[in-house]
Amino acid sequence: MIALLGLTAAFAGSDWKSGIPWKKPFVVTPAEKVGNPPSDAVILFDGKDMSAWDHEWVIENGDLVVGKKDLFTKQKFGSVQLHLEFATPAEVKGSGQGRGNSGVFFGNYEVQILDSYENETYPDGQCASIYKQTPPLVNVCRKPGEWQTYDIVYNCPELNIEKDESGKVQSVQVLRPAYITVFQNGVLVVNHHEIKGSTFYNRPPAYEPHEAKVPIKLQDHGNKTRFRNIWVREIPDVNPMPQPVKAAYYE
Ligand code: MG
Repeated sequence: MIALLGLTAAFAGSDWKSGIPWKKPFVVTPAEKVGNPPSDAVILFDGKDMSAWDHEWVIENGDLVVGKKDLFTKQKFGSVQLHLEFATPAEVKGSGQGRGNSGVFFGNYEVQILDSYENETYPDGQCASIYKQTPPLVNVCRKPGEWQTYDIVYNCPELNIEKDESGKVQSVQVLRPAYITVFQNGVLVVNHHEIKGSTFYNRPPAYEPHEAKVPIKLQDHGNKTRFRNIWVREIPDVNPMPQPVKAAYYE
C-alpha cells in the first residue's frame, strides 16, 4: 500500500484519462424559471392544450381538474424525468384516502397524490408514497389548495417475458427492477427506491408483463385535485457506460 501511494504521488500533476470515448452531451437550454420546461421537454399540459392525452378533463383558469376516468398520455414513455404541479381541493372534504386523492402512474407504478396536510392515513399510502411500497422520507405537503411540485425520476424495469405459442404469458422475469426518485416541493422524499411490482390496493406488489414504454397516467379517484405545468424528458434507462477504447492512462 505504501509503495502504491508512492507510485500515485509520482503522477501527481499529470492529467489522468479514462480511455472512454465519451460523447459530447447535447446542449439543452434551461427555462428562465426553475420548474418550467427546458428545451428538450415533451409538454404534456401547458394550461390550455390537452392534445397529449387520451381524453379531456375540464380546464378551469388554466388548471386541469380531475375529471371522469383516469387520464392517459397518448405517447408512451420509458425512463423519464417528470415535472408536475398539483393542488388538492382548497375546500377540505373527506378524510384518509378520500381527501384530494389522485396519483401519477408510470404504467403500473403509482406515486400517490393525496392531501396529507394534517390528514392521517397509512404511511405507505400518504402523499408522495410509492403506493403500498414505501412512505415518503418526510411529509413536506403544503396546505390544501396550495400549489405543490413533483419532480420525479422514473427508471423503467427490464422484463423478460416468456410467452407460449398462442401468445399467452408464461413467466415474467425481472432483469432490472424499476426505480423511482421523488422531489416534492424541492425536497427529496423518495430516494432511488426499488419498485417491487405493480402498486395494487388489494394485493402485494408483483411485476406484470408490460412493454418498456408505457403511458403516463393521472388518476381519477373522485376528488377534484388540480394540475398544471406538466412535462417530461426522456432519459436513458441506465447511465451509459461505454467501454474504454484504450486503458486508462496519464498524459
Ligand atoms: Mg391515488
